[in-house]
Amino acid sequence: MTTPPQGNPYAAPVPQAGPNPYAQQGGYPQTAPVPQQGYPQTAPVPPQQGTPYGYPAQQGHPGYGAYPGHPQPPAPACMFCGGSPAVHVTFRAHRGILILMTFGKQSGMMCATCGLGVYRELTTRTLWQGWWSPFSLFLFTPFTAIHNLVVARKVKKLPAPAPGQHGQQVDPGVPVHRRPLAYVALVPVLWILFMIVTGLTQGS
Ligand SMILES: [Zn+2]
Repeated sequence: MTTPPQGNPYAAPVPQAGPNPYAQQGGYPQTAPVPQQGYPQTAPVPPQQGTPYGYPAQQGHPGYGAYPGHPQPPAPACMFCGGSPAVHVTFRAHRGILILMTFGKQSGMMCATCGLGVYRELTTRTLWQGWWSPFSLFLFTPFTAIHNLVVARKVKKLPAPAPGQHGQQVDPGVPVHRRPLAYVALVPVLWILFMIVTGLTQGS
């Protein structure tokens, strides 16, 4: 390692020794020993591992000089089974009982199979536990159900992980409309319809 150039590097943008000045401007120091990322003010700080901002700049990795320990980011893997492809999603669950309301969620990287299982579980739970407080009835539970529906499209677009490349998966189970508890949601819907019909017939 050699010492950095004296003076302010921003006042003299073109170093005299560099054959290609653009090779040292973009943060990709290839072979030139001129430190660009450590903000050398005036002191001759040796460009070692402990540069002031924690960037060990000169490591000989052309494309990833700033992160020598991670040559490339790992492929996104499912948080449940480790399979890929996976997307980061957040499914929600809501429960409202009189004035007691709870908000649950499951967030993270999920593959197609596990994401579908989480979606169905949390949505079904919301559809039968979510209606029993006023705010839940008109606000939180409809929002939660629609939110899950939208987010589920992200995992449904993924191809399923290849067999043998993942661990134990979340049981996707049966669709929401085949889970009897989901039909508890018909109670508030019918109740609202009943109120509407009652109001209409009383007016006439
Ligand atoms: Zn999975």
